[in-house]
Amino acid sequence: MKRNKFLILSILLISFSYVYGYVQNKDNVLMTEFNTPFGTVPFGQINTEDYLPAIEKAIDDAKLKIDRIIKNSGEPTFENTVEALENSTLWLNQLASIFFNINHANTNKGIQDAAQIISPMLTEFSNDVRLNEELFNKVKEVYGNKDKYELSAEQQMLLDKTYKDFIRNGVNLDSSDKEEFRKLTNELSLLTLDFANNVLAETNAYELHITSEDDLSGLPRDIIEAAAQTAKSKNKEGWVFTLHQPSYLPFQKFADNRQLREEIFRAYNSRGFHNNENDNQQIIKRIVEIRLRLAQLLGYKTYAEYVLEERMAKTPAKVDSFLNELLEASLPFAKKEYNEVQEFAKANGADFQIQKWDWYYYSEKLKKSKFDVNDEVLKPYFRLEDVKAGIFSLVNELYGISFKPNHDIPLYHPDVETYEVIDEEGRHLAILYLDFFPRESKQGGAWMTNYLEQYRLDNKDIRPHVSLVFNFAKPTETTPSLLTYNDVHTFLHETGHGLHSILSECQYCSLSGTNVYRDFVELPSQIMENWAEEKEWLNKVAVHYETGEKIPDDLLNKILESKNFNIGYSFIRQLAFGLNDMAWHTIMKPVAEPVADFEKAAGAAADIFPEVEGCVFNTAFGHIFSGGYAAGYYGYKWAEVLDADAFSLFKKNGIFDRETADSFRTNILSKGGSEDPMKLYKRFRGQEPSIEPLLESSGLISE
Ligand SMILES: [Zn+2]
Repeated sequence: MKRNKFLILSILLISFSYVYGYVQNKDNVLMTEFNTPFGTVPFGQINTEDYLPAIEKAIDDAKLKIDRIIKNSGEPTFENTVEALENSTLWLNQLASIFFNINHANTNKGIQDAAQIISPMLTEFSNDVRLNEELFNKVKEVYGNKDKYELSAEQQMLLDKTYKDFIRNGVNLDSSDKEEFRKLTNELSLLTLDFANNVLAETNAYELHITSEDDLSGLPRDIIEAAAQTAKSKNKEGWVFTLHQPSYLPFQKFADNRQLREEIFRAYNSRGFHNNENDNQQIIKRIVEIRLRLAQLLGYKTYAEYVLEERMAKTPAKVDSFLNELLEASLPFAKKEYNEVQEFAKANGADFQIQKWDWYYYSEKLKKSKFDVNDEVLKPYFRLEDVKAGIFSLVNELYGISFKPNHDIPLYHPDVETYEVIDEEGRHLAILYLDFFPRESKQGGAWMTNYLEQYRLDNKDIRPHVSLVFNFAKPTETTPSLLTYNDVHTFLHETGHGLHSILSECQYCSLSGTNVYRDFVELPSQIMENWAEEKEWLNKVAVHYETGEKIPDDLLNKILESKNFNIGYSFIRQLAFGLNDMAWHTIMKPVAEPVADFEKAAGAAADIFPEVEGCVFNTAFGHIFSGGYAAGYYGYKWAEVLDADAFSLFKKNGIFDRETADSFRTNILSKGGSEDPMKLYKRFRGQEPSIEPLLESSGLISE
């Protein structure tokens, strides 16, 4: 059930805060304290050209603070070294977050150009810090004396993490290796940016322009209307379909014209693969080569080995056995599903073998014939406004928090909404931004991010500014924004990430909220999706937007009966992504073969379709080549195991049970990365997670 979504975590290896010790600059608002409600980002007063000098200034400021740590002649202590280092970059951290968030959600040429300068500049700074031996020696001394101090669990975590970060970033390398390390990380940061820019350019470059009404056959009314609107916005007659999800996916599902389905499928699945200026093939190969070399310099055999050391899974072997265990359980189901769809298509006149561009089309029709339910039947019951209210009230029921609209907070785009998040005692917990609709300046998919993270400084609790970004269908002239059932899942998912930040009660920025191991970070998000599969909740949310009528019981039953429809396929699809990710990151020498061949070999065990020449997905696989999920994509499935296991406790105690929710909040959501995730999990669950609840709830247990 997972889709193209990710969470942007700190780009930097280190993190920061808010200490303004410099001269105010009236012209550049980013160089001043924000004079806005709750100190929110003063969008509207920021010019694109402000980012670079402000970030340069913040880097200088951080360097001064770090210099003071180094020059301190007293004995290094936890406070004057580790904590001081943590706090030296708080302001830089926030500026960098603002900049990269805007580059994702509302970019333009100027911002993209600035990113080309800022990104390597930050890498360079980060390297300057992490390769600084004098600084490391101080940290090492504190680390060696750690038993002398009475550190809290979170302080111990910060100390361990800081110490290991230096080593993992090359401080022990000799000077020529250090030089190479530095060069390679700089190159890597630029390549990942190029990768993302190419995917965006390729996504925007394509359109399917339809001028004959016949070619719209099968498509639902609102999808046609949206395509007409897109055409109009481009000064074109007829209808325009694009590679953005709300346009592309319905076309795959509903368009009767098989040839056009194939055309748009091929366009989508060849982004970055056209041997043009946006081609990503060489970029991918170079990215994985650099990652391998970095790992080798640090003494690891593969990049995956290096990454996984800092994950719950710990080793590539563990991830491989995990992926293969799930593959073994799901592949027979996926094959059965493929045959069933093939038989169904045949019975309905298809005299060909089912191809990838037929899969969603016939699956949708088979699902309708089996369950008489599909997105178009359900969408009228999921008006965006109602779903939003339903999610707010669910969160209120579980955690007692509420959302108060605030119209005074500056916005980066008029589509964005803002809320104050308040707990039962009236305490201010967070600011929440919601950004729902697609536009050309925004990356595809959905994600959660922070404009400001939670931490404490000088006895002050800094509360987070959280943003949830989506690409839901825009309202049209006649229809409000209606969500698919999958969108409802996505909304809950990102809300879960948001709660991880909103409810954070940590001391240190770099350990708060979603700053946890990558294979733990999807637990809070994915657990929220379980409520979308509960009648009790759906009954409260799903109301027909025109008639106001509650969703009929039989329709509700059908949603729930059909929730595991083609689940075997959805498992193997995720597993194919995970296997590819692991293949790219367990190489032990640079990849010589073409990207298409590599991809085919890596995912073969999880592929049930005839091969399609000219199509690959890795050249647009942003998660692992620009999104921070390298050697980490398996984390989605890993977290599904966790979330199914965790939700089974809610099922046992009641899905709105306040005590269970309190325990989840106290032991997991409020703790961020301040302690080992397995410890946190066991405190909530009383035991380690088991794979069984996931296989069971997915119907993947053969009798
Ligand atoms: Zn997520």
